[in-house]
Amino acid sequence: MRQFQLFTKTSRNAPKDEESKNAKLLIQAGFIRKEMAGVYSFLPFGLRVLNKIIGIIREEMNAIGGQELLLTTLQDPEVWKKTGRWVEEEADPQHGLPWFKTKLVNKGELGLANTHEEPLTNLMREHVASYRDLPRYVYQFQTKFRNELRAKSGIMRTREFIMKDLYSFSRNEEEFRAFYEQCAEAYMKIFTRAGIGERTYRTFASGGSFSKFSDEFQTICQAGEDTIYVDKKKNIAVNKEVYNDEILMELGLKKNEMSEERAIEVGNIFPLGTKFSVPLGLTFKTAEGSEKPVIMGSYGIGPARLMGTVVEMLSDEKGIVWPESIAPFSVHLLALEGGEKEAKALYERLEKQGMEVLYDDRTDKSSGEKLVDADLLGIPTRIVVSARTLEQGSVEVKKRNEEKHELVKLDALTL
Ligand code: ATP
Ligand code: MG
Repeated sequence: MRQFQLFTKTSRNAPKDEESKNAKLLIQAGFIRKEMAGVYSFLPFGLRVLNKIIGIIREEMNAIGGQELLLTTLQDPEVWKKTGRWVEEEADPQHGLPWFKTKLVNKGELGLANTHEEPLTNLMREHVASYRDLPRYVYQFQTKFRNELRAKSGIMRTREFIMKDLYSFSRNEEEFRAFYEQCAEAYMKIFTRAGIGERTYRTFASGGSFSKFSDEFQTICQAGEDTIYVDKKKNIAVNKEVYNDEILMELGLKKNEMSEERAIEVGNIFPLGTKFSVPLGLTFKTAEGSEKPVIMGSYGIGPARLMGTVVEMLSDEKGIVWPESIAPFSVHLLALEGGEKEAKALYERLEKQGMEVLYDDRTDKSSGEKLVDADLLGIPTRIVVSARTLEQGSVEVKKRNEEKHELVKLDALTL
């Protein structure tokens, strides 16, 4: 992509009305735009990153048998009344949800989805009749709307966001558990591929009314809203919400071996039991001929929260540092003074090789401005072509996460 043609621009300064590092950097670098508190648009660079993250999640969900669909945002209240979740959180803190609701012109009310257990369970009734139709794993990347109380964490907590939500439909507890563990492994693969695996812990958290525990995936980071206790040797963490002597004993953990950390919940997985299948009537006929409710689980990841977490963790004082796997481009090619012609030829050559290249061919920016922008944007490999590098028939190659740079002969350049 030619930077000359790009409609977005970087800003000289970080926005003043943002508290979080991720929003500050992503706005300054032109990845996102703030529309209002807790609501952000994704600009071309931001969308490229988001789509890469979505791509990684999709691969891992498909690898464990997930089938992708797309449910609607607009929700029929009747379905939600069956589980008692049409009510708002304020009215019923135990069961209510952070709804945005809206009126139809010809009377009647709709909701904007904040999760999708109810509509999917309702839909599955048309496809599940016998034990032969199970197990099934269904997922989507879909927009959720949540009337969040706090919205100070940039893209990590927004009122509108895309969620990957998968739901499992199993015949019995054992079958459910096997998939639950498989999905937990897939989650760690996702976080590792996205560059935050080393600091992400599977964390015991409260399970709500239907099971003792749920599992959160918490990334240790100062900007996190959660507090967890981590046993780094055993690779286990416990959320503060459920941290007590009884649970530590049950998990074989010792207080003096655990450290208190701030963390970001990048994903979670939840046993649902028959909480939704019973009220919505999702049952199946067993091999013996009896009728049983389906055992369910839910598995969520917020791709934008994951993106924000990467920015929080890996950026430095100069800007963002993207891991290769989710970077908007792999190469940032800078044409500096005297290097324009050769840079253009190199751009064409790299594009032909199938590399994702951002080519800074802007004519109204100084070399200094281009270098500052390159650090801010955080693309993993920077290549500079200038009169100075060409004197030696070379280009300068530098990794964003390393200090050193090297001169590489133009003909010998392979990436
Ligand atoms: P939290 O406790 O942080 O509010 P949650 O328990 O509401 O999270 P879920 O409803 O299970 O989370 O959503 C699954 C995943 O979606 C979360 O793990 C997180 O990655 C993401 N997510 C949740 N709420 C938001 C939000 N407001 N903005 C962006 N991503 C979110
Ligand atoms: Mg929440």
